Amino acid sequence: MPRGIFLKKMPPCTMLAMSASELKAQWTLYNPSMSPARRRSKSSSPALPSYDEAAALVAAYAARLARLRPGSRSSGPDGPCTERVPLDQALGRVFAEPLLADADQPPFARSTRDGFACRAAEVSSHRHLAVAGSTRAGQTSSAPLPRGSAWEIMTGASVPAGADAVVMLEHVEETGAPSARAIRLLPPRTIRKGENIVARGAQARKGDNLLPAGSLIGAAQIALAGSCGCATLNVFLKPRVAILSTGDELVPIRSSPGPSQIRNSSSAMLAALVSVAGGSPWVLPIARDTDKSLDAALARAASADLLLITGGVSAGKFDLVEPALARAGARFHFTGVRIQPGKPLVFGEMPRRSTNPVQNENGTKCTIFGLPGNPVSSAVTFLLFAAPVVAALAGKRDRGPRFALARLTEDVKTKTGLTRFLPAACTFSGTVPEVALVTWQGSGDLAAMARANCFLVVPEDSDRLRAGSTVRILLP
Ligand code: AMP
Ligand code: MG
Repeated sequence: MPRGIFLKKMPPCTMLAMSASELKAQWTLYNPSMSPARRRSKSSSPALPSYDEAAALVAAYAARLARLRPGSRSSGPDGPCTERVPLDQALGRVFAEPLLADADQPPFARSTRDGFACRAAEVSSHRHLAVAGSTRAGQTSSAPLPRGSAWEIMTGASVPAGADAVVMLEHVEETGAPSARAIRLLPPRTIRKGENIVARGAQARKGDNLLPAGSLIGAAQIALAGSCGCATLNVFLKPRVAILSTGDELVPIRSSPGPSQIRNSSSAMLAALVSVAGGSPWVLPIARDTDKSLDAALARAASADLLLITGGVSAGKFDLVEPALARAGARFHFTGVRIQPGKPLVFGEMPRRSTNPVQNENGTKCTIFGLPGNPVSSAVTFLLFAAPVVAALAGKRDRGPRFALARLTEDVKTKTGLTRFLPAACTFSGTVPEVALVTWQGSGDLAAMARANCFLVVPEDSDRLRAGSTVRILLP
């Protein structure tokens, strides 16, 4: 059996529509007795899933996890899955219940301008209107607007009953002594009913569902929740994501690398990516390229909701991760994808060792991504495949990955056969986003990745993208 093919060829939309049991039927148990020669065939296998196929499978898996998520239930057999946090600590969290409007928004007809509340028909005839009163923001108009008059009003103030428009201060001439003020709309300007007024309840009615559960909480959502009087928010607990870097050449960041050693930069990078995706990173000590070290590390990691294990998934003599995962009871969805960088990516599940607040497959499974060790490969495969699953476990409705369109500024030549995600710099200052590759020395080039702000997507059947064409970019 060719290594790494666990998917039948089918269009992504078909796989997205697969039920959990159909998805399960695509799984194959890893065979740890597989010969090294067959393991090495991973690097040349034409039978690996394409990017679209693998992405569709992961999306279906993430959607299934999202459906299994206990929703707004406040506790379950596995303990609480939500918590209440103060509003000022809710940034980046996910609503565990819908946000409901506690009152009409706005709660009164509100002026959007400094000027004069009036009747549109009267003021548009350009006659003089006596100024009958004045309302500042925070005040309530004392009386309805008398016929043939205007009412001085400030931005944010409530419009007096009877008025149906607000003329801007800049658009009127004012006459008369302070005790007998009058205004006239300057011809030829006229005004329509409703102009410069937001009617009571125009934004939302009391009880409306303003944001569904699963919405990501950013600055705007904090403001909206605050406007509804929510000083605390009920949010989903973050999934616990174990990060395990493997490799005999790795030393901790604080250590001075010996000759031929490198610092474990990927764990720190992945911890940052996990946080952005909505997870709680749990960085484990570096595992060595031995069965014993890997088995011990996996036994620990198996209590997480999701495991990111980096390195050791290629076809080299010391790439021992897949057999170790198999010994830990893992099942694999795929063990390679037709992408570059990141081709040896492994996606599977293993039994979870202990229960944890965030529920995953009824609390029994730990999702596994075996990311290739080179940091650019780890970053790309995380963004493409692991981030959507972390987001699903975090309860997010919008799970990514995120792509955008940009205009390519230089020709790009590649080879066909793999979908490529190449470090690129996109500028957003012009009329359209413009993107160009950054020069890089391959997927170990951290400096190039740090100069980039996206990845240019080169489709698998393209050997050339032309300057001036519209291209896709993967956003971090
Ligand atoms: P591997 O996938 O284990 O063959 O690793 C591929 C390359 O990535 C090797 O050059 C490693 O030194 C490098 N690498 C692996 N893990 C890390 C890490 N945690 N941080 C930085 N570089 C790494
Ligand atoms: Mg290695």
